[in-house]
Amino acid sequence: MTTKNLFLLPGDGIGPEIMAEVKAVIGFINEAGLADFQTDEGLVGGCAYDAHGRAISEEDMAKALAADAVLFGAVGGPKWDAVPYDVRPEAGLLRLRKDLGLFANLRPAICYPALAAASSLKPEVVEGLDILIVRELTGGVYFGEPKEIVTLENGQRRAVDTQLYTTGEIERIARVAFDLARTRSGRVASAEKRNVMKSGVLWNQVVTKVGADEYPEIKLEHVLADNCAMQLVRWPKQYDVIVCDNLFGDILSDVAAMLTGSLGMLPSASLGAPDPATGTRRALYEPVHGSAPDIAGQGLANPIAMLGSFAMALRYSFGLIDLAEKLDAAIAEVLDSGTRTKDIASEGSNVVSTTEMGAAILKAF
Ligand code: ATP
Ligand code: MG
Repeated sequence: MTTKNLFLLPGDGIGPEIMAEVKAVIGFINEAGLADFQTDEGLVGGCAYDAHGRAISEEDMAKALAADAVLFGAVGGPKWDAVPYDVRPEAGLLRLRKDLGLFANLRPAICYPALAAASSLKPEVVEGLDILIVRELTGGVYFGEPKEIVTLENGQRRAVDTQLYTTGEIERIARVAFDLARTRSGRVASAEKRNVMKSGVLWNQVVTKVGADEYPEIKLEHVLADNCAMQLVRWPKQYDVIVCDNLFGDILSDVAAMLTGSLGMLPSASLGAPDPATGTRRALYEPVHGSAPDIAGQGLANPIAMLGSFAMALRYSFGLIDLAEKLDAAIAEVLDSGTRTKDIASEGSNVVSTTEMGAAILKAF
């Protein structure tokens, strides 16, 4: 059994509490001989700033680069509101994304049957929902130049953001989406706005070509991003994999998130390009939610998003599909039994703490 190296960055707020539950699962997997994980741990965000004045140290960056996968908790909180911009807690995550080359952000939106009633939509609309949004993470309007606010001669100010994509950037995110579709239902919906944006025209052309040349068996559908947002609320189950640019992905994945019940339930993965020699990718796994300073240290945090992120690591970084499925099934089983953290509790549920939820899931694993 080859040893797999995990670098853990619990971060701030509830980060350490939810990471503790993942550590318990890793310990169990190792002891049971199901896999051999070696873990190391570092500081990121506000705790790193407190320790050495940076959002992440060079030493921890090097460890993240050397690891097979990074598990990230959450960063930030009011304590660090006044720290200088370039060492603010969030800078640690942005640095990791940039230096690891994490261009593909995967956000599943799964509605567990037991939580369908907690969705913002009718239960029949979301029951059994299982979609995956693949968002381009390192290009587009977030990074395109010029990006500036300038003062004009007449005293008015003008702001410019540049939506910019190259064929190479679109090809590689399209391949991630098509590859994932092969392991799922074989369908991809590509969302853009080709009716008003040149980048949308190019996006549409490149995704079409990659699909036709390399993935003829995958059924590709094109949808305008605004229509996609509407369809996600109207009948989300029509989709399986949705691929889109950075900005539309930001919005569509938040829409999809609210279909499922709670922020505390949502995992994510960010992947880099495959290494040509080994085929392995750099990857970082983190819950969608933030550090939740309002509930930190009280045993109220829901560990499911973090545990689900670890399940994604098992699946996408290590190919341990059986273990990933077992962990996902353990989460579903515990929810079915009525056990809930406070954020997802409803009438009659058995409300438990972070550690109790983690222990229940580990028991069902
Ligand atoms: P960020 O800017 O880092 O995304 P945020 O302020 O937007 O942070 P969160 O920190 O995710 O958002 O918190 C939003 C709300 O959701 C808070 O009230 C928080 O307590 C709650 N919340 C977030 N994550 C969890 C969780 N794992 N379990 C329970 N409640 C959570
Ligand atoms: Mg937020």
